[in-house]
Amino acid sequence: MCKPNQHPDKMDARIKAILIAEGSADIEPELLSTSKALASGPSTAGPGAGVGSFFFRSGGHRVRLEYKRDPDATLIVRRIDEEAAGGGSDAGDVDAGIDENDDARDTRAAGDEEVDAGNVGGGDDLVIFCGGRELVRGRIEPALLHCPEQAYITLSESCIFDCTFCPVPKLGGRTKTRGEVLRMVDDASRIGNLRAISITSGIERSPGEEVTRAVDLVKALTKYNLPIGVSVYPTGDSSIRMKNAGAVEIKYNVETMDREIFGRVCADMDLDFVLASLEDAVNIFGRNCVFSNFIIGLGESDRTVREGVETLAGIGVIPILRALNLHPLRPDLKNVCPDAARPDADRLLRLARFEREVLDAHGLRADVAETMCLPCGGCDLVPHWDV
Ligand code: SF4
Repeated sequence: MCKPNQHPDKMDARIKAILIAEGSADIEPELLSTSKALASGPSTAGPGAGVGSFFFRSGGHRVRLEYKRDPDATLIVRRIDEEAAGGGSDAGDVDAGIDENDDARDTRAAGDEEVDAGNVGGGDDLVIFCGGRELVRGRIEPALLHCPEQAYITLSESCIFDCTFCPVPKLGGRTKTRGEVLRMVDDASRIGNLRAISITSGIERSPGEEVTRAVDLVKALTKYNLPIGVSVYPTGDSSIRMKNAGAVEIKYNVETMDREIFGRVCADMDLDFVLASLEDAVNIFGRNCVFSNFIIGLGESDRTVREGVETLAGIGVIPILRALNLHPLRPDLKNVCPDAARPDADRLLRLARFEREVLDAHGLRADVAETMCLPCGGCDLVPHWDV
């Protein structure tokens, strides 16, 4: 799977695809614990919930990797100076491959959903080995709240729906109070480098209650004068209410555009209703402001993905092609999707390039998004940025 460059240095689309396909890396705890702020803690949202991760930046690209301790891992992260001193591979010039723009980033940050203004630091120059060969050099990029430069907050950490790829229903977390969320955003804004506020939520009791909770918060958060994006399960009037509250972007997830697979994995959801809500959202928020997560790896064909991307782009929605995360809390996914597997780098790259072509044909731009996953880009190949 690893196809290291002859002269590895900065990340490019192919290297990012390799990193996303692998998804996790062995990394020494000291590289993360030099500042607790350097890595995001366990996420509380969506298919990546419950897993700790860190952000790696190189060549103007960003990727999120789950961290683990496993000397036999395919991806291994080490300090460049150690490799240079200790031999390693052909480490060469220890400064090679570090983007000067990356050096200039604000290194203050916080753990996942817990702002930690203390012990800030970072700037370790790192190398990622893939299958024992040097793949790419870069550095850890601090998260602010869940991801870099955003306060991305999960309101309800539980869900009455039971999509079989998602650990949230099994984690059964709590729902944050309004005061808690406001305090978190306030702390993040005081730390600095806060460019956007993003809100997502599971469904504690009903979709309508979550929409009301999010609307109430959006109204309170407009005082920061930052773009606000919201990702929830839609209701009949969720888009107009979010827009009137002050949100600028919205995300309703289709999860998959393979209707047969959708019926098996998202039995509590209604794909036609989500699609109608997305179309309605484009009328309210405008083109380039409405997004939808589309999981790759549930057993769907490339053809289904291509048709789904065309359908979404055709109504003005930007799909976010998200590699399936096989979560240990959801072994039951294999019962309903025996072919479920994380996609390989070639497939991710092929589909991302296809999406870029489709977006271009429809006059859509993924790189103008201001909130949520597109400007973060940690989990996906983002059209117009990575490809
Ligand atoms: S791409 Fe989205 S889910 Fe992934 S780390 Fe960034 S904000 Fe979180």
